[in-house]
Amino acid sequence: MGSAVLGEAISAIRDWSVAKEGTPAVRSEFTFGSLVFNDAEQQKRLPKKVYEALRRTIVQSEPLDGSVADAVAKAAKEWAVEHGATHYTHWFQPLTGITAEKHDSFLNPTADGKAVLEFSGKELVRGEPDASSFPSGGLRSTFEARGYTAWDPTSPMWLLKSGGSVTLVIPTAFLSWTGEALDKKTPLLRSMDALSKHAGRILKLFGSKSARVTTTCGPEQEYFLIDRYFYLSRPDLINAGRTLFGAAPPKGQELEDQYFGAIPDRVLAYMSECETELYALGVPVKTRHNEVAPSQYEIAPVFETSNIATDHQMMVMETLKRIAPKYGLACLMHEKPFAGVNGSGKHLNWSMSDDQGNNLLSPGQNTHDNVQFLVFCAAVIRAVNKYQGLLRATIASAGNDHRLGANEAPPAIISIFLGDMLTDIFEQIEKGGAKSTKSGGMLDTGVGVLPKLPRDAGDRNRTSPFAFTGNKFEFRAVSSNQSIAYPNIALNVAVTESLDFIATELEKAVAAGKKVEQAASELLPKIVKENKRIIFNGNGYSAEWAKEAAKRGLLNLKNTVDALPQWASKDAVALFDKYKVLNEREVHSRYEIMVETYNKTVNVEGQLTVLMANRYVLPAALEYTKQVGQTVAAIKAGGSSSDEPKKLLDQMAKLTDEFKKRTDKLQTALDHSGASAEKHAKHFRDAVIPAMVALRATSDALESIIPHDLWPLATYREMLFIK
Ligand code: ADP
Ligand code: MG
Repeated sequence: MGSAVLGEAISAIRDWSVAKEGTPAVRSEFTFGSLVFNDAEQQKRLPKKVYEALRRTIVQSEPLDGSVADAVAKAAKEWAVEHGATHYTHWFQPLTGITAEKHDSFLNPTADGKAVLEFSGKELVRGEPDASSFPSGGLRSTFEARGYTAWDPTSPMWLLKSGGSVTLVIPTAFLSWTGEALDKKTPLLRSMDALSKHAGRILKLFGSKSARVTTTCGPEQEYFLIDRYFYLSRPDLINAGRTLFGAAPPKGQELEDQYFGAIPDRVLAYMSECETELYALGVPVKTRHNEVAPSQYEIAPVFETSNIATDHQMMVMETLKRIAPKYGLACLMHEKPFAGVNGSGKHLNWSMSDDQGNNLLSPGQNTHDNVQFLVFCAAVIRAVNKYQGLLRATIASAGNDHRLGANEAPPAIISIFLGDMLTDIFEQIEKGGAKSTKSGGMLDTGVGVLPKLPRDAGDRNRTSPFAFTGNKFEFRAVSSNQSIAYPNIALNVAVTESLDFIATELEKAVAAGKKVEQAASELLPKIVKENKRIIFNGNGYSAEWAKEAAKRGLLNLKNTVDALPQWASKDAVALFDKYKVLNEREVHSRYEIMVETYNKTVNVEGQLTVLMANRYVLPAALEYTKQVGQTVAAIKAGGSSSDEPKKLLDQMAKLTDEFKKRTDKLQTALDHSGASAEKHAKHFRDAVIPAMVALRATSDALESIIPHDLWPLATYREMLFIK
């Protein structure tokens, strides 16, 4: 990198450490949830009747009437204005991008030329953002283009403090006038309802009085932090979020000295401000640490119900990005910002809980609880096996293609890691009656299959895309940059289908006079037998696993183009439709948008690669070739017989030649029009991406010989290690 940018970065770091010395990192005026119109605040400010009606809406999904909405709006506005708010916004999750917001002022002009602060129930409950430019995948025709946002009372309102202004943020769903979902929240809420209904049927058989089951979710977020000067100097980072060029540094992550290592001062100060803000927003962030790759970090909250966890996850991503510049940093959330070092994922920890807060995937203390646990666990195993393609599709993106299947992230083959103990139990169940467990726990053989489970399964497997971790499943193949809504929705609806199936079978048996434990002990072996191919506890990175998985008939969808059709497969459409999560049109619109997004992403990357090749790398290559040529001429003129400089000149000329040819080839590949979106996608995968990879290889070879001062881009060595 030219020394100017490097110099800027170094002095920024120096200035920062001088300025911050002695400043306490955590701002004490913030307390948890102080910027949230939370339960305590609602209780304090709402008339008792209104508060109770609102709680019924939140907990039991009771419809909310207009007078309640008016009272809530008034109280929320007063609370927000006391905190300095001037505006409110309906915040929603469109089908592309992360979140969307349009701010409206509380101020309304009056007839006498003054203005009053107003906020009605109607304004709280329904918004009409002029959001016709959001892609709807054909769900809206232009005459009904607007769509509306609808308040989600189950996710609390909060205050966004940014750019010196305060805004009341209202989490909303985004729908078309015909009631079709134009967002990710609506189907998530629908999927949670569906799961609750069928999980409830099973709980009832086991004698529970629980009225509602919720899915819970704790997403761990990985990200990179680099100095902002480096970031701003690279068009690829700014526009594509990842480096399209860059030779591997002499030191990469091989020493693994970063993982869980001491966090650098500036990074710690940054994390601590992010956490302070998130605490105030009611996001229960809990852990932070260095990740495996240099300059890679992780933040994780305590789990919450999936809907709130999904909103909060968006807030985590936005906060991490928003605060970084204050510390002279850039936060990279791309799945693979740097080739050759680990990419970033998001581990989606997932479970189900009854309305007393009992985790349904937690092994119990007694036989009765254990059967129930095994039933819920089997439902997840069956769901993941049956809908592995759909789950794979929900995590497919151009960015995640760089991760899945590379030897650092889970493979593209969806399988479940159960751990030795649970695998052993399920194997015994399949054989028709467990006798003992490997860990030596005793079984209640009264009904054949009822093992006593130790609480902690203990073992971990980093190579599995979907792992049981003692009392929850961890979907590890989810990408760092995506909303967790789709993986959550797919898991919820797939598990719902299994719960429905199991509930129906058990209800029949119980109606015929069997005890539920007995009925379960007869059903479970069948489920295990039919779905055990999905269970794999070995090394997911190994070539043997790919072969073994093929033998088992598991899908190996290596890239987005292969994976996306699974989202709109006949089975997936039927599944979404049956449980009223998405109708066929809603499924297809999302599919179309995903294909479009893939195409746009690769197209932008391809165009950027050409631009940077022509305007950054090629001029540097030509300049150095010229300099070496002049040296060679001077040596010759001086009468020296030294021929090493001539060899360097030949090497430069050859690489530069190759570089220009490969640039032109990529440019030609990018000129592709007239085909359907699917054909485009295939072309991007088969022609454009390989052309980009080839061009990059030549550039990286040039980078390793062109002098530091002539090289126009910040290098990996600088970006990843100067902190
Ligand atoms: P690790 O996976 O690194 O061992 P933990 O087991 O503490 O870490 O949990 C990781 C994440 O899983 C946290 O966000 C945690 O809140 C979440 N988690 C724990 N229990 C559940 C649950 N029942 N449902 C959903 N997420 C959970
Ligand atoms: Mg984890």
